[in-house]
Amino acid sequence: MKRAGIYIHIPFCRARCSYCDFATGTYESALADAYVRALVAEISSFGGAEECAEADTIYFGGGTPSLLTPEQIAHILGAVSRRFRMTPRAEVTMEMNPGTVTPEALRGFREAGVNRASFGAQTFDDGELKRLGRTHTAHDTRRTLSLLRDAGFDNISFDLIAGLPDQTLEGWSRNLDEALALRPEHLSLYLLEVHEGTPLAAQIREGRYTAPDADLAAEMYILLAERTRDVGYEQYEISNFCLPGRESRHNMKYWTGEPYFGFGCSAHSFDGRTLRWSNERDARRYVEMLETRGDALVERTELDEREASAEALFLGLRLLGRGVNLSEHRARFRLDVREEYAADLSRFTDAGLIEFDGDILRLTPAGALLSNEVFSAFV
Ligand code: SF4
Repeated sequence: MKRAGIYIHIPFCRARCSYCDFATGTYESALADAYVRALVAEISSFGGAEECAEADTIYFGGGTPSLLTPEQIAHILGAVSRRFRMTPRAEVTMEMNPGTVTPEALRGFREAGVNRASFGAQTFDDGELKRLGRTHTAHDTRRTLSLLRDAGFDNISFDLIAGLPDQTLEGWSRNLDEALALRPEHLSLYLLEVHEGTPLAAQIREGRYTAPDADLAAEMYILLAERTRDVGYEQYEISNFCLPGRESRHNMKYWTGEPYFGFGCSAHSFDGRTLRWSNERDARRYVEMLETRGDALVERTELDEREASAEALFLGLRLLGRGVNLSEHRARFRLDVREEYAADLSRFTDAGLIEFDGDILRLTPAGALLSNEVFSAFV
């Protein structure tokens, strides 16, 4: 029996960051109450994939889930554990932003069952934080980390963003010094993308900031990979680094094709085979849909065998050490990858982007940097 991961989207933030195009808006208490009611109703009435009724990870993403109260989080977790059989020692992650939590709230989240924090540090340069429209400072990040440790959190992940407007390699190197000195168990790297329609895109168009430079961002990526390796982190996924044994168990489900069920606005689900579905993106509309028709489904896609195989390949290749086991892949999808993609695989091998280790196909460090080029051969 496959164990599922549960994703819960909380679409509220204290203020909107200048680069953000996620499904999130400013926190309003009445909407948050209605949203939690809708979430609990959606989880309780979930009827998909009975054979995956056991779950071993829960992930509160957003948005800023830590803006909810511990009581609201406990209420949602109660609904999850009534609907799914949660395994002992399930991983329960909550995304948090620095400066949004008090010691009391953190104790409450832990008592409710949250045992991992994913923490939007982004950068330790206050000027860069301001440019991004973040509401916290580097001091808030250090203080929140110390509050998390005091509250008993021993599994903490930092998000960092590279390729910021006007960011230099020296500035990024100082950022890494700061982040690694705090010794989080896990680090996730994001390269800034400038989305049309965001304030940051307009500021760059007006010439207030320079657009991020792709080559410089690549140098930042390489520096992060080297520095984390030097101090004992493993780069287990293209953009994720951890101390031994501290991979994100929830995110591993996305890369290994295990089932996950998403609740809340804009949440996506996968049955672990070929079926994907997703919810309405807007929070108010999501609440209305739950109230009027009992679900918020807006899209449902059945992948054919070839699409499912391609997806398993490019998601699996993201796991750098583990790669894709081609015998297992052939048994599952009845497709011989070496034959099917012979010309592309030969080209990528010659260019040093991929390597074979017996039956394992994996990206090389150079391939990790140019992964989109490799993945595009499969889709
Ligand atoms: S905290 Fe995250 S989700 Fe919220 S506005 Fe900023 S980037 Fe978007």
